[in-house]
Amino acid sequence: MHCTHCGRETPPGHYCVHCGADLTEQASARTRARRHAFAANPSEHVYHPGIVSTFFPHFGPRRTQQMRWILLAGITVIFLIGLGRIVPVATVAAALFVPLLYLAYFYDVELYESEPLAVLGATFAVGALLGLGLSLSFAPILQRYLRPLFGPRPEYVLLHGIAYPILAQALMLVGPLLLYFWRRRFDEVLDGLAFGAASGLGFAAAQSIVLAWLLITGPIQQAGPASSWAIPTIRDSLFVPLLDAGTTGLICAALWAHRHGLRPAAGAARLGWLGALPVVIALALLLQVAPALATDLARGLIESLVWYGLALLGALLLARHVLHVALLARARELGHGGVVRCPHCGHEVPDVPFCPHCGLAMRSIAKRARTARAEPAGGAEA
Ligand SMILES: [Zn+2]
Ligand SMILES: [Zn+2]
Repeated sequence: MHCTHCGRETPPGHYCVHCGADLTEQASARTRARRHAFAANPSEHVYHPGIVSTFFPHFGPRRTQQMRWILLAGITVIFLIGLGRIVPVATVAAALFVPLLYLAYFYDVELYESEPLAVLGATFAVGALLGLGLSLSFAPILQRYLRPLFGPRPEYVLLHGIAYPILAQALMLVGPLLLYFWRRRFDEVLDGLAFGAASGLGFAAAQSIVLAWLLITGPIQQAGPASSWAIPTIRDSLFVPLLDAGTTGLICAALWAHRHGLRPAAGAARLGWLGALPVVIALALLLQVAPALATDLARGLIESLVWYGLALLGALLLARHVLHVALLARARELGHGGVVRCPHCGHEVPDVPFCPHCGLAMRSIAKRARTARAEPAGGAEA
């Protein structure tokens, strides 16, 4: 069969194994970019707001489903602890929940077998140290300008709503940038996403522990209804860390995608202006500043939850766009000459960049799955 998109020969199937283009009869020039089938999880649309398939893209369908349940259960437990007003436990659990899940994910998929968790752990630690430094140095300044009963002063809004998120985003990029320049062999777009996310999660964890500590020991006492303690736990355990992971992962994914220059002709889609680095950085900063500023100006727990939720949604969709296009454009041969079982649809597929049956980008699966079933060509199991 002849792929009309890249011009190469491909076995009969739904997707071209070389460029990932949709080859069905109905596919037009536009749908070959296959927005309906996310390269890292073809059963979802590219712009489906899936937390697990975006931040844990190496998981197959079974693990993705398990992770959804773990996330839901964890958030529920943390919310209930918050409702019970066991504030220190709730805040520490909220700060550590998503980062610990992320480290467990990396252990599970064995992404970097030669430097196991060290690379990711170091990125996480650098993010955490910088988060600790920034929130510790900002907290006393912010407290000076905060007047809980009369609303914030303009200085507070400028510092907390604008300066802090921009500084924070810059510091979250330090760890991944060190890897970008010093560990050049981690050069895939999913590596960029992973390092960005790890740094963002480390930063968010340190920051929320510092802020929680100041809140518990500070002048503002634990008054108010139980919901005023429970609602922020959702924001702090899920939305803030994932937003930090999302904007940092987004910038890093775009940075890594441009590393060797994209070959737009080789992929079934283009990054477009949404993939240009200055645009990505500007959007990430906007997504960081907007919810912080809105929280300061329109104070309210539910409102704040909504602002952070919307910003997270924006970061998620942008990151998926960059991942999808970069995975399509940067497809490479896997090079072990064997046969693997596609973790998404379960078909035996040869050593090719895309599964011909479901269109999964094979670079997005865990290394263990890529090599476990590798065997000499022709020795495929029935
Ligand atoms: Zn093709
Ligand atoms: Zn497949």
